[in-house]
Amino acid sequence: MRLPNEVSPLGSSTVLGQMIARMADEDQYRRWSVQVERAGHCVRPVRLSGSAMTVNAATGEIEATYSSTDEPGGVLLVACKDRRESVCPPCAARYRADAWHVFAGGVMHTDSTGAADDSDDDGMADDDGADIDEGAGDQGPHPMVLATFTAPSFGRVHACRDGGVCRTARRGKHKCEHGKPLWCHARHTPGDGMVGAPLCEDCADLAGLVLWNAHVGELWRRTVIYVYRALAALAPALDGQAVTVRRVRELLRVSYAKVAEFQKRGVVHLHVLARLDGVNPDDPDQVIAPPAWADVNLLTAALAHAAARVTVPLPVVDAKAAAVARWGAQLDVRPIQPRELDRARVAGYLAKYATKTLSDSMSGLPASRPRADEPGLDEGRTLPAHVAALTATVRRLARLGTCRALRLGRHVHTLGFRGHVTSKSRRYSTTFAALRKARRAWRLAQRAREGDPWADGAEGSARLLVGDWRLAGIGYRTLGDRVLAEQFGREHRQAREAWRAGLTE
Ligand SMILES: [Zn+2]
Ligand SMILES: [Zn+2]
Ligand SMILES: [Zn+2]
Repeated sequence: MRLPNEVSPLGSSTVLGQMIARMADEDQYRRWSVQVERAGHCVRPVRLSGSAMTVNAATGEIEATYSSTDEPGGVLLVACKDRRESVCPPCAARYRADAWHVFAGGVMHTDSTGAADDSDDDGMADDDGADIDEGAGDQGPHPMVLATFTAPSFGRVHACRDGGVCRTARRGKHKCEHGKPLWCHARHTPGDGMVGAPLCEDCADLAGLVLWNAHVGELWRRTVIYVYRALAALAPALDGQAVTVRRVRELLRVSYAKVAEFQKRGVVHLHVLARLDGVNPDDPDQVIAPPAWADVNLLTAALAHAAARVTVPLPVVDAKAAAVARWGAQLDVRPIQPRELDRARVAGYLAKYATKTLSDSMSGLPASRPRADEPGLDEGRTLPAHVAALTATVRRLARLGTCRALRLGRHVHTLGFRGHVTSKSRRYSTTFAALRKARRAWRLAQRAREGDPWADGAEGSARLLVGDWRLAGIGYRTLGDRVLAEQFGREHRQAREAWRAGLTE
């Protein structure tokens, strides 16, 4: 005879069976759902097994012990904290919120010491915003722009043109030297896998594209140097003297936050939030307003001046590939208005890109480099032809002696791009580490108030935490668990949205 809540061993090999097995024991199920919630409804949490205890440092007394053997399945679930939307939407949402704070930290409060400050930095709205809000239409004390640096062309590609025709033929020239048409009358939709593919793979400079991705970090580093030179060249004479680069560096600082965005054609663009600060020689960490002559027009002109001139020499790979990397002709620089709403919008715009990966723009590519125990990049995947041609190009270049230093073999999944998707200059604004520290401190303080022996809330507390943990695995053990966790996450988000809607009604 079978008890009503006894799960058939056969049933648990199906997703539904796994879900029923999870819910069969009420107490175990409750404990498991608390874990899922603490892990922020992460879809691929890290499973840890081990134990921990808190010790009173003064007396040596053990105050509390914890062992994962008491948890369902003997494991503790911890959020994966991945930034990529395609890997873990709940963790990416949290990352996006953190990124927003970092970007907004630099645009919203730009006076006093904003910089390498590791205090709790979520009090953005009320923090010295007063002089930013003044005089709509006026630039305010810190000139700020949002600039998009694009990649040059590496050959004509299929494009989505809002319902329009992809490419019309140029008069007199219908075919390339390889006999491929130079036109395409299709009306591609954004999801069309053809978008971004070259009209002729033999005409396209795929090696140049990969090398450009591999050098965009260096190109940006040099661009910043050129911006200081341009500021000197374009600045008005001071006290009747032309301004030297050295003088500019004494007076001005270019602070920035940037995000790399992958295009359908496989190259990255940089979205850069650039800000001109003054320099306090007695306290370089202070973020102060620049002199009045360093206005938004000067910043805009200096960025354009630098972008048009800067280059990075590229390794020699074949006759067709470009010898230097440079920015594309399209440089979009927009002043950011001092109104708070505009600034918040700009921060949101950048934060959105921060959770994207190349795999979101180019179908078939994995979100991260396959681990040694996973199938390779091309195994079991059907990459669109132009994506496969690009990954093959990365591999070909990786084998060349002239490219050895680039370690391209490790960057096949990003088509040669080696940098961080999000980065900023040192004094731009609060750091992610500071945000995490603040959030953790807040949580611990909260728990200390609730009398939790695990919380180390009080300043200078004499409580030690001793732990011993091992990695038991990554992701939920069954698909049923994952489906349940996603359902919790949806319910949690809906409840939060309903609560927010209630607040604004
Ligand atoms: Zn996660
Ligand atoms: Zn087309
Ligand atoms: Zn051709």
